[in-house]
Amino acid sequence: MMVFKNNGKVDDIMFKYPLDDYEEFKEKALKCNRCNLRETCTQVVMGEGSLEHKIMFIGEGPGSTEDKKGRPFVGRAGRLLDKILKSVKIERKEVYITNIVKCRPPDNRNPNDKEMKACSPILKTEVKYIKPKVIIPLGSVSLKYLLGSDKKITKDRGKWFNKGEIYFLPTFHPAYLLRNSNMKKNVYKDFIKIKKSIDRINNLYDLKS
Ligand code: URA
Repeated sequence: MMVFKNNGKVDDIMFKYPLDDYEEFKEKALKCNRCNLRETCTQVVMGEGSLEHKIMFIGEGPGSTEDKKGRPFVGRAGRLLDKILKSVKIERKEVYITNIVKCRPPDNRNPNDKEMKACSPILKTEVKYIKPKVIIPLGSVSLKYLLGSDKKITKDRGKWFNKGEIYFLPTFHPAYLLRNSNMKKNVYKDFIKIKKSIDRINNLYDLKS
């Protein structure tokens, strides 16, 4: 396995994944061992879904079920995400779902800055393939990483933000909803907005839902 470590510092510039062959990129990304998370996880969990539909959902990192199965959002939180998507008639196969870090943090702790930075070339490359018009940060870790540490999920969920040409609509992480079901109605409202934006993008690019 290739290790690109530089006195313990990750050198971003050294990571160039192929940009013209997603499967090759994925194969390379699955071999990543740039940070300590790879020492304790079972496998690298890549994002999955549509490369055409220009919408990404970004969580924080795989949990135990994802770590076992090698797919993002397939545990309890993932099943709730599927249910919410279905409730607003969004098909999972028409969005791309991924995480900030691709390896499960031990005991499901939050990934730290060093781990998120080490993993960033994979996420950046996913963004280059999808060319999203809309990104949905799921939960606080993803929101702060993508839009800045001054953002607060309780205050900023359901609001549109933009960075360059990409629009962001943060919402609560489904794992949070499992513990706080009274927040589901707010998230449902967010997903109605997400559905409308998907319909607009699909019309604009003549994509089928
Ligand atoms: N939580 C996340 O943030 N991502 C997953 O893939 C599963 C649970």
